[in-house]
Amino acid sequence: MAPPTTARVTAVETHDIRFPTSRDLDGSDAMNPDPDYSAAYVVLRTDAADGHEGHGFTFTIGRGNDVQVAAIEALRAHVVGRSVDALCADPGTLSRDLIGDSQLRWLGPEKGVMHMAIGAVVNAAWDLAAKRADKPLWRLLAEADPAWLVSQIDFRYLTDALTPDEALALLVHGREGAAERTAHLLERGYPAYTTSAGWLGYDDEKLTRLAVRAVADGFRQIKLKVGADLADDVRRCRAARAAVGPGIRLAIDANQRWDVDEAIRWTRALAEFDPYWIEEPTSPDDILGHAAVRRAVAPVKVATGEHVHNRVVFKQLLQAGALDVLQLDAARVGGVNENLAILLLAAKFGVPVCPHAGGVGLCELVQHLSMFDHVALTGTTEDRVIEYVDHLHDHFLDPVVMRAGHYAAPTAPGFSAAMRPESIERYTYPGGTFWAADLAARKENEA
Ligand SMILES: [Mg+2]
Repeated sequence: MAPPTTARVTAVETHDIRFPTSRDLDGSDAMNPDPDYSAAYVVLRTDAADGHEGHGFTFTIGRGNDVQVAAIEALRAHVVGRSVDALCADPGTLSRDLIGDSQLRWLGPEKGVMHMAIGAVVNAAWDLAAKRADKPLWRLLAEADPAWLVSQIDFRYLTDALTPDEALALLVHGREGAAERTAHLLERGYPAYTTSAGWLGYDDEKLTRLAVRAVADGFRQIKLKVGADLADDVRRCRAARAAVGPGIRLAIDANQRWDVDEAIRWTRALAEFDPYWIEEPTSPDDILGHAAVRRAVAPVKVATGEHVHNRVVFKQLLQAGALDVLQLDAARVGGVNENLAILLLAAKFGVPVCPHAGGVGLCELVQHLSMFDHVALTGTTEDRVIEYVDHLHDHFLDPVVMRAGHYAAPTAPGFSAAMRPESIERYTYPGGTFWAADLAARKENEA
């Protein structure tokens, strides 16, 4: 434990960072044909002698990233001037103060742009806390006192499904055997699946080539985007199934494209290719719709979560029996504190968590949450996989490392959130060197 200090947070610095991914159709799906993977990025600076900074971000796909940055800036007054010791000892108080801002709360509550901004700031605080504790975040969480973890969770609106006492019991029980699981995790890593073969904009040759390579690289599950055209989906699923063989799990992802009846028809039409799950079959807000799809398409599983606003909606999805696989996202909800609640809800209901990570930096973040879950909560990786998408990692200072289809456990202190300064400089929109040159060239073409 570091000695007490009088250090304060001195600045909340923001950056609008956008990568031109739309040019290669990386990330393309049935609802997002031309995403430019972007980060509304925040740095907490302090006057502490250790020089540590807290880095966090939320993920968007291009236009609107400036709106997201403005939302983070609206939180600045809550953060600047805080004691660094107090912030790191109790990020839950920051989380509660941000969520509880009586005027900003009107913009949600606890959903959308404002809530994602809170998530970015809260995650930055956890990055700082983990750096000061000299531990990767998964380890800080896995070694924390269970009662302290419970104190980090906002149980408002949850107690009909999960009480603080139940959460404590799950965490105390989850700690049994943690040392062995930590050793195993450090040796083997955490299983992953890959989405990189199946973007909708890829042709069949590229899809087949990447699917074959994924299996050779050790992945036991791949995922395909579906939902734009049924004949295309039949052809692509057939090609993918032929490429990977019968023993590999093939997930499909509609990115909210369908109405409920259409989701049922379409999923059944692809059933001959033995899809493992159908992801986001319909609106992420439609809890009863997901439940209806799940009843109708079994044994195909229903997965959702990357656009689920908050713990309250996850609670209802679980209570309604609306999902088989819970896909939390590190940067959609209000940060680590709310994701602790979501992991505990999933554990209580016995639903596996397979985090969403298609985006910039999401692989880097979610691995910490899954590894904590494995070591100190559910104690298992059975039927659990973290999404892996193989681009943009080189922009991070502590990028994910894949070994034989597994995420290697991060060992560097922090939340793996920090981007390289030169990447921030180059891809800041619109003034960074890449975008300034790109926008000037476009202007010239138009002239
Ligand atoms: Mg998805």
